[in-house]
Amino acid sequence: MIANPTLSTFDETNIFFDRAADRLKLADGVRELLRRPWRELTVSVPVRMDDGRIEVFTGYRIQHNGARGPYKGGVRFHPAANLDEVRTLASLMTWKTALVDLPYGGAKGGVQCDPYKMSQGELNRLTRRYTINIEHLIGITRDIPAPDLGTNSQTMAWMMDAYSQIHGYTPGIVTGKPVELGGSVGRDSATGRGVVYVMTEMAKDMRMSVEGGRVVVQGFGQVGSWTVRLASEMGCNIVGVSDISGAVYSPSGIDVDRLFRHKQETGTVTGFPGADRLTNEELLEIECDFLIPAAIERVIHAKNAPKIKAAVILEAANHPITPEADEILNDRGIPIMPDILVNAGGVVVSYFEWSQNLYQQHWEADRVSEELSKIMTRAYGAVRDTKKREGITYREAAFLIGIKRVAHVTELRGFI
Ligand code: GLU
Repeated sequence: MIANPTLSTFDETNIFFDRAADRLKLADGVRELLRRPWRELTVSVPVRMDDGRIEVFTGYRIQHNGARGPYKGGVRFHPAANLDEVRTLASLMTWKTALVDLPYGGAKGGVQCDPYKMSQGELNRLTRRYTINIEHLIGITRDIPAPDLGTNSQTMAWMMDAYSQIHGYTPGIVTGKPVELGGSVGRDSATGRGVVYVMTEMAKDMRMSVEGGRVVVQGFGQVGSWTVRLASEMGCNIVGVSDISGAVYSPSGIDVDRLFRHKQETGTVTGFPGADRLTNEELLEIECDFLIPAAIERVIHAKNAPKIKAAVILEAANHPITPEADEILNDRGIPIMPDILVNAGGVVVSYFEWSQNLYQQHWEADRVSEELSKIMTRAYGAVRDTKKREGITYREAAFLIGIKRVAHVTELRGFI
């Protein structure tokens, strides 16, 4: 069993990477090239705060691998955003874009800050300064940022504006923009939509019923809230939901429309009438059919993995399960659909948005959902078939496919 509390998150994802690399028998040099980020930038981001003080934040943009196309990946504003975390997330983007076969590499950005304690003015100034400081690395054929934890379409509008002040109007420089500024319809719901597509396909293969299936979603941000809404529209029984303040649980099912109204009125899901209050940790241990962590990294670890009572887990968050927990859950026979597949819907519709920007087109919502469904279903099918053929887990299969594609183009390009 892998039990090393000193492992960084990047070490942890590389455990998954190494397993696939071993199976693919990658040569040492290629393995090293694929494992390491190609370029890492750390910047100081000074911001004049509303009270007149100057605060200097630390920002990052890490370009993990660009063999398959321009680097692609979100920007996170979070107190825990640090070099190691951003590096981990950048590497996951490389395997994710390869797995769903988009013509992109992988990158991630971040600024260590607490966006919920900052005013809109402060966030606007922070975003502009960060954008200017990484401006020489990004570009529509170089690296295209997008939203992630703590950032949203407004953040992307500011990024686009800051970049466009130097380069002229450039909507394709970021994705996840407001629709009025060149964003794609369906980008806001895209990750959640991808999650429910994968859930439906998986349920079919496992002969589970989505209709009436008991679903627990940890996290009620952009990804979690859309997952709750769409899963409920498909007839799932949402039994537990949480946000940063805590969790609510109702074994007979939560009325989702009322929950959204409650969240809008009070700012939190907690205190929802008729539901029990639990902690975020307790929520993960509820008996259910589909457990969907949709918040942050490493929420399922060696301590709580033995207590999970879900039939299957779908990773809507990035890296929510440590390798130790992964092994425990595998031994317990609980299938895990990995992040690089489950949450890829976001970057898929980012790709649609970027293509629409390059060709000055506007797709209809139905076209976005249809094309997204095709890509997600195809990627799911590839993972399922590889899992069966090789006798490995879904995660191993997903990494195997992604890494194989990156290794292949590395060779084709002939730069080593
Ligand atoms: N931040 C999202 C992710 O982790 C989306 C990235 C993108 O759209 O480029 O996949």
